[in-house]
Amino acid sequence: MSVDDLKSHVKDILNVLSENSEKNASKDELEKELKKFMEYGVPIEQAKQTLIKKYGGSIKFNTSTSSSSERTLISDIEPNQYNVNMLCRVIAINPKDIVVKGENRKIFYGILGDESGTIPFTAWSEIDVQKGDVIEVSNAYTREWQGAAQLNFGDRVSIKKTESDKLPEAAFEPKIYNVCDLRSGLGSVEVSARIIEVNSRDVTVNGEVKKVFSGIIGDETGKAQFTSWHDWKLKSGDVVNISGGYVKSWKGIPQLTFDEKASVKKLDKNKIPKEKISKANKMSLHVLVEKRGMLDVEVEGTIIEIRSGSGLIMRCPECNRALRDNECNIHGSVEGKLDLRIKLVVDDGFGAVSSAINRDLSEELLGKKFDEIKEMDETSLNDEMNKLLFTKKIRLQGNALSDEFGTTFISKNVELFEVDVEKESARLTEELEGLL
Ligand SMILES: [Zn+2]
Repeated sequence: MSVDDLKSHVKDILNVLSENSEKNASKDELEKELKKFMEYGVPIEQAKQTLIKKYGGSIKFNTSTSSSSERTLISDIEPNQYNVNMLCRVIAINPKDIVVKGENRKIFYGILGDESGTIPFTAWSEIDVQKGDVIEVSNAYTREWQGAAQLNFGDRVSIKKTESDKLPEAAFEPKIYNVCDLRSGLGSVEVSARIIEVNSRDVTVNGEVKKVFSGIIGDETGKAQFTSWHDWKLKSGDVVNISGGYVKSWKGIPQLTFDEKASVKKLDKNKIPKEKISKANKMSLHVLVEKRGMLDVEVEGTIIEIRSGSGLIMRCPECNRALRDNECNIHGSVEGKLDLRIKLVVDDGFGAVSSAINRDLSEELLGKKFDEIKEMDETSLNDEMNKLLFTKKIRLQGNALSDEFGTTFISKNVELFEVDVEKESARLTEELEGLL
């Protein structure tokens, strides 16, 4: 759309608003918002009506547009909204049997998509829609789950199937992303990356056994997980262009998901050589905490707490859970296996993560072998951990996950380090100068 066209549409909106709205909308503001709708490919009339409504104007309803007149784009959905109305496509839908207050109940969960992105949903009763349907939804509501909006269809929801050309395929044209920019909720993405790892497993979907392929992709910017519901014959070391995938997240780690409807092309392996794959992205803790989850990162901070449950523990021989008073939460009273772990909280002044350090890495940190540590009594081991670790600087390498309890770091490498005071002050000066 040309700038003049855009301006004339903005004038239309301002005309309607001046007649019946108390709120003041600025021309620039409207222009910016209308442009965003256009970028997402929202039909112009629909976009205009949405903006009029947003700025307090009333809309002259006509039958063909009334149901989508207060449409919310998926990218604009936030937690704890009521009366969410959408026009979207069903990207995935699955039934699930649950028990509520002793009664069996069938619910549905899946993913909806529109021009702006995708969102997971849960329907708390049976709904008659299929994968691929374009639907108009009114009166859905959202909740917060793991920091992201989760869409719910409750008692008040109304779902109507509509013509698929209301949300044309063109609206789903893939946009190109680097691996580090993949984030949960992105709709149609195109990524060129190297397959670093691929595994397959069987899952049962609607009573049918399907093979699903998952693993890790990477480029110069970072690494992410992927899941493919189709056998694209991907092998570790392949460099591929994947177009038409969408991004979900698992515990905050972005997961590129695609199926037979995507296009997957093998590229020349030199396009992204192995040595160019990003190695342990270094980032500060607050950036990591904001990103929620990430594969293969490096962080630094100060050990501000050695949590209880650190030191020698007993584990369940069946499930490896830590025992409490020789009892496993799942397996009851069992003969435990002795193990060693250290639970740390690491903070850099702007953000914090917790990390449970496994036996091998704990041996490294304490500079003692397990055989030696296991002979120590609790007090002397605690003293030793405090003396060697508390308030010390540590560098962690591994994967970060997030859940409702915060960000957890799964460490694969740990290293204590001394701060070189001179170097550190030079670095800080440089950083400050960069800000001026
Ligand atoms: Zn157990």
